[in-house]
Amino acid sequence: MSNQEAVEIKEHSEKVHELDSLFKPKSIAIIGASSKELSIGNVILKNLVHYGYTGKIYPINPKEPEIRGIKAYTNIFDVPGDIDLAHVIIPSKFVPQIIEDCGKRGIKSVIINSAGFSEMGDEGIALQKAFLDNAKKYGVRVFGPNCQGIINTDPAFKAYCDFTFTFPNPGSISIVALSGGVGAFIMQSLFDLDIGMRMYASNGNACDVSISDVVKYYGEDDGTKAIILYTEGFSNPKEFMDVAKIVAKKKPILAMKSGRTEEGSKAAASHTGSLAGVDISTELIFEKIGMLSFSNEEEMCQASMAFSTQPIPKGNRVGIITNTGGPAVIATDELVSAGMQIPLLSDRAKNILKETMLPEATIGNPIDVVATGGGNHFRSALDVMMEEENIDSIFINFVTAPFTDTDEVARNIVEVSNLKRKPIVCNFMTNLSLERFQVTAKILKDGGVPCYSFPTTAAKAMGALYKYHLVQSRNIGEPENFKNVNQQNTKQILEKGKAEGKDFLTSADTYTILSNYGISVAEWRIANSVSDSVKAALEIGFPVVIKADAASLVHKSDLGGVKINIKNADEVKNVVEDMLQKFNTSDLKFFIQKFLPGGKELIAGVSAKQELGHLIMFGIGGIYVEVLKDVTFKISPVTKLEASEMLSTIKASKLLDGVRGEKGIHKESVIEIIQRLSQLVTDFPEIQEMDLNPIMAFEDKAFVVDARIKI
Ligand code: ADP
Ligand code: MG
Repeated sequence: MSNQEAVEIKEHSEKVHELDSLFKPKSIAIIGASSKELSIGNVILKNLVHYGYTGKIYPINPKEPEIRGIKAYTNIFDVPGDIDLAHVIIPSKFVPQIIEDCGKRGIKSVIINSAGFSEMGDEGIALQKAFLDNAKKYGVRVFGPNCQGIINTDPAFKAYCDFTFTFPNPGSISIVALSGGVGAFIMQSLFDLDIGMRMYASNGNACDVSISDVVKYYGEDDGTKAIILYTEGFSNPKEFMDVAKIVAKKKPILAMKSGRTEEGSKAAASHTGSLAGVDISTELIFEKIGMLSFSNEEEMCQASMAFSTQPIPKGNRVGIITNTGGPAVIATDELVSAGMQIPLLSDRAKNILKETMLPEATIGNPIDVVATGGGNHFRSALDVMMEEENIDSIFINFVTAPFTDTDEVARNIVEVSNLKRKPIVCNFMTNLSLERFQVTAKILKDGGVPCYSFPTTAAKAMGALYKYHLVQSRNIGEPENFKNVNQQNTKQILEKGKAEGKDFLTSADTYTILSNYGISVAEWRIANSVSDSVKAALEIGFPVVIKADAASLVHKSDLGGVKINIKNADEVKNVVEDMLQKFNTSDLKFFIQKFLPGGKELIAGVSAKQELGHLIMFGIGGIYVEVLKDVTFKISPVTKLEASEMLSTIKASKLLDGVRGEKGIHKESVIEIIQRLSQLVTDFPEIQEMDLNPIMAFEDKAFVVDARIKI
C-alpha cells in the first residue's frame, strides 16, 4: 500500500465513525412528535416502536405529556440522558433555531424531515443556509432536509428512522437513494423478493450528508455485502468518484441513474433542489470507478438477490443444468450477449454423467437431466459442474415436473449452493398457488438460492455477477505522463489568447500547441498572399491542401474553403485568388498543408464539464461525424487501457482493423494521440473544448489535419 493510500484509508475510516450517531443511534429525540394519527411526527414514533428500536425514544412536544404511551418532553433540554440523533419535523422557519439548540444540547446528527428549503426557491435557500451554518458551528451532521431518513435493520439497533411502510428483514444489501420515492420502492421490491436489507438512506436535498458520505459509510460496514444506489446526478462528482472508487473494489455497487432523456432530466431538475441536466457523465463515472450500472430498476433489484448470497465467478464460463429444453436456449442467448461462454464438458465429466444420468438425458453443456430427472440426477450434474475446471458459474433451469420429488431436487441444489464454490442462479418455473410447490420454493429461498421466474431475468443476474468479476479484475493503470511536451510555450499561447479575449485560438496557435504536446500534425504553413502560398507549398512539397483561414470560418469545407490535392504552383495561385474573391474578410489567411490521401478519418475531442474535469471523445470522424454519431466518451485523465478501449467500443471498431482487403490503421498512434490530448487538458483545465477532426489514420502513422481549441 502506498503512503497516500494509507492516508486515504485512515481519513476514510475516521470520517465514517462520525455517522454512527446517524446510523447506529442509541437514543433518538423526535422534535415535532405528534399525537395526531397520520402525521409524520406520529408515524415516525410508531415505526420506531413497531420495528423494535433498541434505544431510547424521546418525543418532544410542548403540549403533550406523552405520545403513544411514551413520556414526552417540552424541549430537548429537559431530556435527562444523551441524545445521539434528532428527527426534526417542524415548520421550516423554526428549523435554524432548533438546530442551534441541538448543537448546544450536544446532539450529533439530525434528520430534517421537514420540507420548505432549497427545493422552494430563495426564501427556502436562505433558511437552509441559516440552519446549516448553525449545524457547522456545533459540528452537527445534517441528513436531509426534505427527506425520509435512515433505517438500520441490524438487530442491535433496529432503527427505523423513517416514515415509510416497509419493514424489511435483516439482510446484506444497503440502499442509498436521493429520491425517497425510488428508495422506498426498491426497499419494497427487495422485501417482495425476500432478499433482506441491511441499511437504508434517503437524503432528499442532501445539504450536508451526501450520497458519497453514505456510500463511504456502507463501504466500511462489514454487514453490507452489496450497495444499491439511485441518483439523478451528483452535486460533487469528483468527491463521489474518489470515495466510490475505493468502495467499488471492496463490494459491488449496483447503480442506476435516471434522467437519460431530456424530458426525464427536466423532471429530475424540477423535483429536487439539486443537480441533473442531460449528460452522460454520470454513466461515465459509474464506468470509470467500476460500478454496475443498470437502466432498469427491476433488473437491478433482481440482480441484488444473486449478490446477497452467491460468490463472484472467477470467469465467464457457464455450465447449464436444465430439465426442460427451451428455457435453456433463451438463457444461453442472454448469457452469451452478456459476454459469457458455454464451454464443452471434459471427457471426465461426460464419463461420470453417462453412469449417473437417465438414458434419455443429454450429456453436454447444457446437461439436460430431463423432466423425469430427480434429486440424485440434479446432484450429480451439479457435482460434475462444480469439479469442472472450465466452468466458473452454474445456471439452473428447474421446472417443477409433477412426477418428480421437487423438494428433493431443491434440497440438493441448496446443499451444493451452500458450498459457495461457484455462483448458482436458478430459473425456477412453477405454480406458486399450489401448496406443494410453495414448499419447494421455500426450500430454495431459505437455502439462499437466487430464484427467478424467467430464464432471461436469471441470466441477467448471472451477467451482473460476471460483470462485477470484470470490475474487480480490471486494472486501468495510471495515466501516462509523456515527458517530451512543451508546457511553457503552451502556457504562453493560452495566456496570450486569454489576454486577447479570444474564444478560439488561431490555427497557428492551435497547431503549435498540438506539436508542443507531441501530437503529430500534417506539415503546415500560414501564408498571407498568393506568392507566400506558392512558396509555402513548394517548401512542404506537392500535393498540398489549401484552407481558407479566418476566425469566422468554422466549417470551412461547407463554404468551399478547403481545396485538396493541389499539384503545382499554378493551381495554388488559382485557388488562393479564388478564395480572396470568395471570402471577404480582413483577417483571411491561407493554411497550406500537406495532402495526405487515403487515410481513415477519425475524430478525437474534449469538452470541459464543471466539477468533473474534461470528457474525452473518440470516434469516426470527417464531415459525416454528426450524421454517424459513432463516438464514445471517457472521463479525463484516460489511461492507455482506457484509450484503447475507446477504439474497441465504437460501433465501427472493426473498420479500424481493415475490412475486405483494406488496410487497418496504426492503433498505437491513435491511442497515443488520445492520451496526449488527455494530458494537455489535465495540464491546462482552462481549455473548454477541442476538436481534432479529422485525424488521418494510416497503416503506420496518424496525423491531425484539422483542429480547433476553445478557451
Ligand atoms: P472543415 O472541418 O472545417 O470543413 P477540414 O480541414 O476538416 O475542414 O477538411 C474537410 C475534409 O477535407 C476532411 O474531412 C478531409 O476529408 C479533407 N482534408 C482536409 N485536409 C486534408 C489533408 N491534409 N489531407 C487529406 N485530406 C484532407
Ligand atoms: Mg474538420
